[in-house]
Amino acid sequence: MSNTKAYAAQSATSLLAPFSFNRRAVEAHDVQIEILYCGVCHSDIHQVRNEWGGSIFPMVPGHEIVGRVAQVGNHVKKFKIGDLAGVGCFVDSCRECPQCKAGLEQYCEVGMNSTYNGYEKDGKTPTYGGYSTNIVVDENYVLKISEKLQLTGVAPLLCAGITTYSPLRHVGVKKGDKVAVVGLGGLGHMAVKFASSFGAEVTMLSSSPTKEAGAKKLGAHHFVLTSDAKQLNAVKNKFDVILNTVSAPHQYATYLNLLTVNGTMIVVGAPPKPSEVPALNLIIKRRSIVGSLIGGIAETQEMLDYCAECNIVSDVEVIDISYINQAYERMLKNDVRYRFVIDIASLKK
Ligand code: NAP
Ligand code: ZN
Ligand code: ZN
Repeated sequence: MSNTKAYAAQSATSLLAPFSFNRRAVEAHDVQIEILYCGVCHSDIHQVRNEWGGSIFPMVPGHEIVGRVAQVGNHVKKFKIGDLAGVGCFVDSCRECPQCKAGLEQYCEVGMNSTYNGYEKDGKTPTYGGYSTNIVVDENYVLKISEKLQLTGVAPLLCAGITTYSPLRHVGVKKGDKVAVVGLGGLGHMAVKFASSFGAEVTMLSSSPTKEAGAKKLGAHHFVLTSDAKQLNAVKNKFDVILNTVSAPHQYATYLNLLTVNGTMIVVGAPPKPSEVPALNLIIKRRSIVGSLIGGIAETQEMLDYCAECNIVSDVEVIDISYINQAYERMLKNDVRYRFVIDIASLKK
């Protein structure tokens, strides 16, 4: 057991504040990682504020974790002390159901063990996430990280990266496809980078007029301000794929209208309130709407290797842990370019 410094929320209405707890001991198949950086996902805010229901407190958020291996169990094969390592949104799963066997652990039929706001395999020890100095995880659920990339920009790949890479691959986005991304935050900016690297013609659909130049720098070919009806009307029936990353309640119909025949809107944003899906908006062009949850371990490794090969990282603003509550407020105002990443050294001060 090791004493671990962290930041936690004690309830859905309290700010994040210093907290400490004991990590479990390193067992035969575990690695202990000294955390260097942890990204700040909008899912952290949803869960800290109990917007999805069922939150477990105290809560130490954080599921975009990178660091160095500090200790390995006797049977660990993939890692040695000193290696870079990453942990994403889950730290275990049943390993036996058809989804786990197919490498789709995120859809485990028993339920994956979330990195935080969940329980370890014993079903009773709460999991605590990456706003902390170290984490202990079974090596099968730990990712290998290239030494080539800038580490601050790698952390967000563990959630924002895989959550956008996986569905774009799943629907088979390829050269020449017309892809739109809704919402230019952490997920949205990775979606722009991936879709353009797959050769798609990318349009950014944003509610923020100030984000046009930034979107184009990230690889978007076009920018549409969604509050401008004229601009929106000009892209009606146009896109093959729309990746919707919006975190706040909104109407799906607005974006469904922009899909061409057989077009697909992939929903990854998880607003706390439902949206209506008008039947006619689907019927008239045989459109589909699908959801997607992060990605499995093998695909997350594939994405990390792809990023190392193509030199893709997240664009980040590195913060001290003491800034976390302000960072949340800025995210809620759509004011992040494009991911906050906590320098975990600031927790040790
Ligand atoms: P984020 O960085 O805060 O970005 C969200 C973006 O959505 C904002 O920057 C803004 O972009 C847009 N937006 C916000 N409110 C809006 C509104 N009322 N109308 C239109 N657009 C609005 O959040 P994130 O970390 O990328 O996460 C986005 C969502 O994905 C969250 O709900 C999160 O929980 C969810 N998520 C899902 C998965 C999954 O597996 N499916 C994984 C991770 C996160 P503009 O300024 O460009 O409009
Ligand atoms: Zn996330
Ligand atoms: Zn399973």
